[in-house]
Amino acid sequence: MSRHIAFYELRDALAQPGCSLCRLEARVAERYLDFLLWERVNDPDLRQNLRRARGFCREHAWMLVRPGASLSIAVMLHDVLQDVLQSLNGAVIQPTQETRRPLERLRTTIAPAPPPAVADIVAALEPQGEQICPACAQCRVMEEVYLDVLLDSLPEAGGLLEAYQSSDGLCLPHFRRAVQRVRTQRVLDVLLHAQRTVWERLSHQLGEVIRKNDYRFHDEPWGEEADAWLRVIEALVGAAPTQLEVPGRARGEDGYERTGR
Ligand SMILES: [Zn+2]
Ligand SMILES: [Zn+2]
Repeated sequence: MSRHIAFYELRDALAQPGCSLCRLEARVAERYLDFLLWERVNDPDLRQNLRRARGFCREHAWMLVRPGASLSIAVMLHDVLQDVLQSLNGAVIQPTQETRRPLERLRTTIAPAPPPAVADIVAALEPQGEQICPACAQCRVMEEVYLDVLLDSLPEAGGLLEAYQSSDGLCLPHFRRAVQRVRTQRVLDVLLHAQRTVWERLSHQLGEVIRKNDYRFHDEPWGEEADAWLRVIEALVGAAPTQLEVPGRARGEDGYERTGR
């Protein structure tokens, strides 16, 4: 994606509620999963990465559920499950040799150590070679592009500073990653000032929520602070996972009308 497009996508996202990076990453994941489901199911590299990652992360696995996706999901995840089974069988058949010394054996009579195969089984079930969910990997790549464009634009005339300060800012995890990517003192100063403005506004609104719940101020009307208790959750942990309606689980159905794919 060009930096030009990233700039305008950021500008649009900053005008929406919540963390703009969470919003953009949800869209990146959505597009990427669409691409995988319709174009890449039989790509050997993808399938190998998926096997090594032990499939998708929880959030992105549930994002796969969409009209007509049942066959692609079955093909990709059958492959992952087969690989997990194979690794599990290998770990059970060839457990690490018993190497504990006599003193350690004595201790186990008080607090028994797990059977020797346990460590191998746990290792077999984990992602292999630190491979992560492919959708998470794609989000990380795009996150760096968006953050760099945002940071570059902050001190510039006509940049995104004003939009940032009037938005809900970045959530704490994305703000942390933004700070990590700062390369100049000038950008750091502007970024810190902008995010402080956002957090101080939210903090004031939360104070108002608490105050107006006091019986002495109960009659005061609610203003923009009314949902600050909800916004602070996003501010501290990031956007809520995409809400999904999981279709019926009847055998052989994906619960959706097929759309020709
Ligand atoms: Zn975020
Ligand atoms: Zn993921």
